[in-house]
Amino acid sequence: MEDIFQLADNFGPSRVLYLHGRSVGLKAVVVIDNTSCGPAIGGVRMAPDVSVDECARLARAMTWKNAAAGLPHGGGKSVIFGDPRMPASDKEQIIRAFARSISDIADYIPGPDMGTDERCMAWIKDETGRAVGLPRVVGGIPLDEIGATGFGLAASVDVGREFIGLELKGARVAVQGFGAVGMHAARFLGEKGCILVAASDSRGTLADASGLDIGNLIALKRAGRALRDYDRGSKLAPESIVDVECDIWIPAARPDVLRADNAARLRARLVPQGANIPCTPEAEQILHEKGVLVVPDFIANAGGVICASIEYRGGTERAALDYIDERIRANTHEVLQRSRRDKVTPRAAAGALAEGRVRAAMQMRRWH
Ligand code: NAD
Repeated sequence: MEDIFQLADNFGPSRVLYLHGRSVGLKAVVVIDNTSCGPAIGGVRMAPDVSVDECARLARAMTWKNAAAGLPHGGGKSVIFGDPRMPASDKEQIIRAFARSISDIADYIPGPDMGTDERCMAWIKDETGRAVGLPRVVGGIPLDEIGATGFGLAASVDVGREFIGLELKGARVAVQGFGAVGMHAARFLGEKGCILVAASDSRGTLADASGLDIGNLIALKRAGRALRDYDRGSKLAPESIVDVECDIWIPAARPDVLRADNAARLRARLVPQGANIPCTPEAEQILHEKGVLVVPDFIANAGGVICASIEYRGGTERAALDYIDERIRANTHEVLQRSRRDKVTPRAAAGALAEGRVRAAMQMRRWH
């Protein structure tokens, strides 16, 4: 009984709910971390091996991410124990039972995460009236289709470059992970005059110092092909993207791709983090000491969650893009300025910014 309070500190969690629906086999946990900034937004993860501890850590990460993004939302998360590839009718029953169990928890707004998708969010909305990451027909803004996160990354680049005196026209970009985030980041940066000199996917790196055609590469990936099928450029191993000389290096694939053993190889000036935790803490320190400007993940890749908050208010795609642009520019600027002023890494500055916002919001609540 006391164990659960070991998860708690001054910020939260405010509530931990265990849900059990015997007839459909529902076993789930919801952690509502801190709601001082507003109702919690956080994903619903379905996996066979999730834990309460993991759920609490992810909920806390959402508290910081939403506050760092400057959203009127706190952090929460839920986990449903189960195989996400179970038959669709079983999954619908479990997700609907989960939704019914949280229908009164008005300060938690579920979103998609590993093992759940926009259909699952539609079922939750149907049961409770609350969910984000919905299909377009029920008011959703399809963020991967419009490239919300890549759009936000490009905005963070536009601010970051001012701090290092880099011109976007002609700036050389390398993208690790040419997926939903990476391809749109390349597209929006291409529109600002940047040149894509390399891109990678899980099967290889494609490089061409004279510039790759971004539209052709997007069409290739959308046709289900690999970058190495492209008929121009040099074909290298996936890891070789780290060695490509460029100005802007965008990690948009997996966690921990830059580590103590390879970070010093990077030959770039700006690293806007598209993927979540793409650098280990040691790698981030190495880059900082080398004078490489890193825009931390929860500042640079917040386009998705900002889009979700506009969707929740019933806003349009145009409104979502405008809000992403405004928020990410303001947050990137504030973080990089604090980092310079306080002589700390941008990640430390971003953490302090988020914590300061949550503390300030807590002072305005009745029970602080
Ligand atoms: P995605 O699956 O659409 O794309 C990932 C790409 O990375 C694929 O092209 C894949 O081939 C490539 N890849 C995988 N392993 C690789 C490797 N070892 N080397 C090079 N490329 C590799 O995924 P996504 O939605 O673009 O997300 C990418 C990252 O961004 C993830 O870490 C995700 O958590 C994070 N993120 C995504 C969003 C979003 O809006 N989609 C928002 C915030 C953060």
